[in-house]
Amino acid sequence: MILPIRLYGDPVLRTKARVVTDFGAMPALREDMFETMYNAKGVGLAGPQVGLNSRVFAWVDYADEEPETDTEPRSKILNEYFMVNPTLEFLDKALVEGLEGCLSIPEIYEDGVPRKRALRVNYQNEHGIHQSLEVEDYNARIVQHEFDHLEAKLFLDYLPSEVVATHRGDLVRMQREAKEFLKGLREQEKAAKKPRRP
Ligand SMILES: [Zn+2]
Repeated sequence: MILPIRLYGDPVLRTKARVVTDFGAMPALREDMFETMYNAKGVGLAGPQVGLNSRVFAWVDYADEEPETDTEPRSKILNEYFMVNPTLEFLDKALVEGLEGCLSIPEIYEDGVPRKRALRVNYQNEHGIHQSLEVEDYNARIVQHEFDHLEAKLFLDYLPSEVVATHRGDLVRMQREAKEFLKGLREQEKAAKKPRRP
């Protein structure tokens, strides 16, 4: 099932996510998060981005860079990772600046986002099994970006305010859309609570 992706301005993106203790829903969530991520042509997706206050993210290791055009097929998938309750151990603290975007902040890309070069991520899989993985360079960047979502942080937070200001129009529009979406959600919830007539 494709889940709606929460936009910049949605308070869930600015709420620290909670540790997952019940893994019952995790296998199905894994499916949904990958389906949602591929549908949006992303490389990573975190719980808060689909409205979940849970420490979980999905990401994919592609064999090569994003293709230039939409018609070219995306590169081969080397591995899919679903990480629950991740913790990071930095192996190389050297900061590397690079380009980032975010499915919750569509169409805004900025260079100069500093990330540590290499790390080990300890996590649980969708069945609660403890695992760990060492990543570097671009994959280390993805993991840090997704981990930040669990800490209520966005890549824009690393940029100088004058750079963020150049996107003000788009950001205001997203905030408005996020508000509309939440209003719709509340109305749906209210309607679902109403007792049905026989
Ligand atoms: Zn993101």
